[in-house]
Amino acid sequence: MEIIDKLIALSESPFVDIAIKGSLIYLAALWFAMVVWVARDIIHRSNNILFQVSMILLNLVMPVFGLILYMIIRPSKTLLEKYYDEMEYSFLSEQAGEHQDENCPRCEKKVSQDFLYCPSCTEQIRNSCWSCSHIYLHEYLVCPYCGKKEKSRPLKTTKKTEELVETVKK
Ligand SMILES: [Zn+2]
Ligand SMILES: [Zn+2]
Repeated sequence: MEIIDKLIALSESPFVDIAIKGSLIYLAALWFAMVVWVARDIIHRSNNILFQVSMILLNLVMPVFGLILYMIIRPSKTLLEKYYDEMEYSFLSEQAGEHQDENCPRCEKKVSQDFLYCPSCTEQIRNSCWSCSHIYLHEYLVCPYCGKKEKSRPLKTTKKTEELVETVKK
């Protein structure tokens, strides 16, 4: 501040005096705004009080350097963004789990719950009701939703019947 004092003393013009004082006020306002911005931003990005306080103090002591450092080390996502990401992730993994938890009764490969036929061995797993269009397991004799029988029930070839045919051939 000694240099500024000398400058003020040197300049007798009131315009220079006002300009220096004005720019000092401007810098102080900028400094204050930086600290407020960091404080607001860090509260949205971290729950760690120690980290929050140390970053605010750093910006109070070293205005520009503190801001640059904070921009480098601050968490890339806000707490709200993190929360939404977690929600989306758990929703997606739940969905993926729902569609992958069944095995084909014939070849035992994984099949989605809405598959009517096994894509690996062509085994029919489910029927789509001709009357009410509900989907139900192929083993059922009638549609469990409306009680209608399947119109044309093709001969079912399961592992057991195939084995039977094999033994008869022998
Ligand atoms: Zn299969
Ligand atoms: Zn039905």
